[in-house]
Amino acid sequence: MASQARVDLDGCPIKPITICMIGAGGFIGSHLCEKLMSETPHKVLAVDVYNDKIKHLLEPASLPWSDRIQFHRINIKHDSRLEGLIKMSDLTINLAAICTPADYNTRPLDTIYSNFIDALPVVKYCSENNKRLIHFSTCEVYGKTIGSFLPKDHPLRQDPEYFVLKEDASPCIFGPIEKQRWSYACAKQLIERLIYAEGAENGLEFTIVRPFNWIGPRMDFIPGIDGPSEGVPRVLACFSNNLLRHEPLKLVDGGQSQRTFVYIKDAIEAVLLMIENPARANGHIFNVGNPNNEVTVRQLAEMMTQIYSKVSGEPPLDSPTIDVSSKEFYGEGYDDSDKRIPDMTIINRQLGWNPKTSLWDLLDSTLTYQHRTYAEAIKKSIAKPVAS
Ligand code: NAD
Ligand code: UDP
Repeated sequence: MASQARVDLDGCPIKPITICMIGAGGFIGSHLCEKLMSETPHKVLAVDVYNDKIKHLLEPASLPWSDRIQFHRINIKHDSRLEGLIKMSDLTINLAAICTPADYNTRPLDTIYSNFIDALPVVKYCSENNKRLIHFSTCEVYGKTIGSFLPKDHPLRQDPEYFVLKEDASPCIFGPIEKQRWSYACAKQLIERLIYAEGAENGLEFTIVRPFNWIGPRMDFIPGIDGPSEGVPRVLACFSNNLLRHEPLKLVDGGQSQRTFVYIKDAIEAVLLMIENPARANGHIFNVGNPNNEVTVRQLAEMMTQIYSKVSGEPPLDSPTIDVSSKEFYGEGYDDSDKRIPDMTIINRQLGWNPKTSLWDLLDSTLTYQHRTYAEAIKKSIAKPVAS
C-alpha cells in the first residue's frame, strides 16, 4: 500500500507525482504500473493502443488505486492529446516501440518510424515544457562485441575489455545496411543521441534505460492464443510456446549466441529508483541487466525444458531442440548480437541497484505462470476440429 513515510536514497521524503507512461500496456509497462499502484502514491496516465495486460489494474472501480490510474487509448503516431497529457505530468516515461527482432528485418520501415520518428514529438514536448523524460532504449545499441571480430580461439576473447558493455566507453557496432536487423538498434541509437543533445543544448532532464533481456510473466504473446498464429515473439515466448505445444525448441543458427537475462521484477526496482531519485538519475544512461545470468541460447533451451517438465509434470521430448537457420526462421537480413554482458558500475554508483534473482528461479516462476495461464487454452485449440 502507498505509505506516507517513503524516502529517497538521500533520506528526503518522496512527493507523489503524476507520470505519463507511454506504452504502459506492454510487458514492462504492465509491471511498472503494478509496482507504482501497489507500493507508491504516484498517479499514472497510462497511454497505449492496448490495455489487456493492465486490465487487472483498471477494473473494477473499487480497486484501492482506482483514482491514481487512468487509461488513454492513444496511438502516439497521430493524436494531439499527447502533448496535453505530458503537460499535466511531472515525468514522462516512453516505452512505446516495435521491439521484437522478427520485425526488424521484415518491417524495417515500421521499426525505424516507431523507434525514432514516433519518439521525436515525445522528446520535443518534454523539452519545450521542461518536463523530465525517462526513455527506454535497448542494449542492442551496443550491437556486436569487439571480441566477436577476433579469431574464434584468440585469447583476448576472454578479456572483459573485449566484451563487457559500458555505457560511457563501449562503441556501437552494427552490421551492414542490408542486414536490416540493425534498423532497430540504429533508430534507438539516434533517439538516444537526440535526447542527449536536448539535455546538453536545451537542458532537458532525461534518463535513458538500456534493458538487457528483461523477462517474466506477460512478455509478448503465445502465437495462436493471444497473438497471431504466424507471429514470432521474443525467445522466452517462442520457447514457452514450443514447450506448451510439446514441440522441439528451435535453435537459430545453433543457439550459440549468448544473453544475460534479468527478472522483470528486479529490473522494475531499478526503474522505480530512477523515478524517485531524479537528482541521481538525470543525465545518465543506465545498463539494466544481470551479468550473473549469462547462458547461450542453447543452454537457455535446455534449462527451460528441464524446468517446464518439473512445472507441468510432463516428461521432455526425446529430442527437445531442433536447429534452424536464421534465414528460415527470421528471413533475409537477420543478424545477431553475439554476447551481452552489462557493466554495472554506473547504476551501482548512482542508485545502488543490484539484481537478485537467479536464472533458474526466474524461469521457474515464469514457466509456472505460462503453464497456469496457457496450458488449458493450448489443449483446447489443439483439440478443436479444423473448419472444412
Ligand atoms: P512491449 O511490446 O511489450 O511494449 C511496448 C508497448 O508500446 C506495447 O504495449 C505497444 O502497444 C505500445 N506502443 C507501440 N507503439 C505505440 C504507439 N504508436 N502508440 C501507443 N502505444 C504504442 O515491449 P516491452 O518489452 O515492454 O518494451 C518496452 C520498451 O523497452 C521498448 O522501448 C523496448 O524497445 C525496450 N526494451 C525492452 C527490452 C526487454 O527486455 N523487454 C529489451 C530492450 C529494450
Ligand atoms: N532465438 C532462438 N529461437 C527462437 C527465438 C529466438 O534461437 O525460437 C534466438 C535469437 O536468434 C537470439 C536469441 O534467441 O539469438 C534472443 O532472441 P530474442 O528474440 O529474445 O531477442 P534479442 O535478445 O536478440 O534481442
